Amino acid sequence: MAIPRLYWMLECPWCGSRLVVYDTYLKFVGTSNPNPAPGDGYEGPPLQERCTCTRGCARSMKAIGWISRAGARTMWLHDPHVAIEMTESQSEEWRRLIQEGGYAGNRDVNFMAPRAVSRADIVATLQAWRQGELNAEQVWAWAEARFLPGIHVDDWEGDSSVAREVLLELDNLPQNLGLPEDIPLHLEFLETPAGHFETGYRQWRAALNRIDWKERRLRLRNQPPYARFCS
Ligand SMILES: [Zn+2]
Repeated sequence: MAIPRLYWMLECPWCGSRLVVYDTYLKFVGTSNPNPAPGDGYEGPPLQERCTCTRGCARSMKAIGWISRAGARTMWLHDPHVAIEMTESQSEEWRRLIQEGGYAGNRDVNFMAPRAVSRADIVATLQAWRQGELNAEQVWAWAEARFLPGIHVDDWEGDSSVAREVLLELDNLPQNLGLPEDIPLHLEFLETPAGHFETGYRQWRAALNRIDWKERRLRLRNQPPYARFCS
């Protein structure tokens, strides 16, 4: 049984710079036991002594804490060993350091999506969907990775944003039974001129309300990812 690899945040006690490594706390040195007990084969030195400051300080690092997967909301502090709910700025620091550590390719690192989403990004995604370059699941995952607390869109009008509304619609794509045939409605809404959110929004919702949802529920009742929302 292996010691799990975790995302560890380390800090240089000399210059204060931080880094994230994806590793086990102790180093695996091997074991001859074919049925090793948990932790067998792992030895020192601990992670913070194996890592060095990226600025070249000749001191061992200090462990700040770990998270089990990228995007986790709970962080385990190293000392004292307690779990804390992270603030948005702590999450942001993990995001940045995981990216700087070169782990953006890890399977669990989908929260690396840009924090800013523009209307143009959404238009490009909708067009890729229309052209069959993306399927519904992919569009949904794309929106899900971006519709996050604190999201930045480029078209706020007070508390309203066309980009935010369309992204929310796509974030709920299966529940909303969203199909490529609706794309022109979204694109039209995304062309709403600045200062006309209310009008654009009203027209968009009215157009969506004209869809025969009963027919659509019947049509999609056996089709993932919609099926479970069609009863
Ligand atoms: Zn340093």
